[in-house]
Amino acid sequence: MYQLIRELYPICRSITGNGFRRSLQILKLHIPLQVHEVPSGTPVFDWTVPKEWNITDAYIKDKNGQRIVDFRQSNLHVVNYSMPINKKRMRLSELKEHLFTLPDHPDWIPYRTSYYKESWGFCLSQNLLDDLTDDEYEVCIDASLQDGHLTYGEYYIAGEISDEILISCHACHPSLCNDNLSGVAIATFLAQYLSSQALRYSYRFLFIPGTIGSITWLSKNQGQTAKIKHGLVLSGLGDNGPCTYKKSRRGDADIDKVMRHVLQHSGKRYNIIDFFPYGYDERQYCSPGFNLPIGCFMRTPHGQYSEYHTSADNLDFVKPEALAESWRCCLTALNIIENNRIYLNQNPYCEPQLGRRNLYRAIGGEGGDKNAELALLWVLNLSDGNNSLLDIAERSTLEFELIHVAAKALYKHGLLKEV
Ligand code: ZN
Repeated sequence: MYQLIRELYPICRSITGNGFRRSLQILKLHIPLQVHEVPSGTPVFDWTVPKEWNITDAYIKDKNGQRIVDFRQSNLHVVNYSMPINKKRMRLSELKEHLFTLPDHPDWIPYRTSYYKESWGFCLSQNLLDDLTDDEYEVCIDASLQDGHLTYGEYYIAGEISDEILISCHACHPSLCNDNLSGVAIATFLAQYLSSQALRYSYRFLFIPGTIGSITWLSKNQGQTAKIKHGLVLSGLGDNGPCTYKKSRRGDADIDKVMRHVLQHSGKRYNIIDFFPYGYDERQYCSPGFNLPIGCFMRTPHGQYSEYHTSADNLDFVKPEALAESWRCCLTALNIIENNRIYLNQNPYCEPQLGRRNLYRAIGGEGGDKNAELALLWVLNLSDGNNSLLDIAERSTLEFELIHVAAKALYKHGLLKEV
């Protein structure tokens, strides 16, 4: 995952354009995703697919012709979606109206966008701005904003049933690692892993530009959304902070229970927060017309770390161990969803004799793990056709996997029937 992030990091992505396409081509080396192109001007609910933005170069040159701000050194230097400009001489006072810095972090370059307002600008460190002393500068942004397409990637894995799990991430940020690339990397390798598994659910992975991408996808797939039974928006999963799960708008969807269970049993610090209509694409999936059972999984929430939307959200800020832990949490959650069934005890009049069936040994209970033995008793007792395995795990405070292993053993011995 970290290697993939390293590969994607230098590319100048935006909500449309060749940087986004190139990034999807790199993902295609790992998963066979389908690339969709939606023409500029397409109405999508209350929005319109914007013109396509592409950029080849940009700089500010001093009077000696030196590039003092250079797009080739960091694509964050250009306000994303800047209009083209080419002026041999511009007064510093005029230029300054188009320069953005972070005075509190004088070494860092901010990340700025201007998607829906035609303007131009440069982002630079405060230190560099303080060094500008010439009266005039040469200013060039070699960019284009024209009718084209909005591009997104979609990968569908068919399972046993057509009910779907949706995994969505935004991939529209330029050189920013935690915000966007961590989610992209985790989604890619989750998809790759799942594609080799026998799956009950079908899975849909979306690699989309933030906001306009989910609005576009929902607009094109409005009739299909009833199939989505669970979902996660993945974002900001590579920093060192504790895992955070933001609940779906419903607040009591299965995914909300599953994520709470995973984090409770993770042995690590975590936060669970209620839904609010700000953040990532859960805003669109959880808009009232859709109200999909989709939550957002992240580590430190956006805006709550100072590196957010700056050049300091770089390859050093994202930690391979944090990515691995986030990936495991996702997989654990998906495993629970895959295996969460409701059973009926076939021997409900008093306890069946487990020792005679060698069941304690079958799950490593005898003389070993007391919890494994307890799990058998909990599953037998609560499998009355109303409780799912996750319900049983929650009530017993045992980890889902323990309950699942017990249920599999009991099922094999004919003591359970699936409802
Ligand atoms: Zn962002």
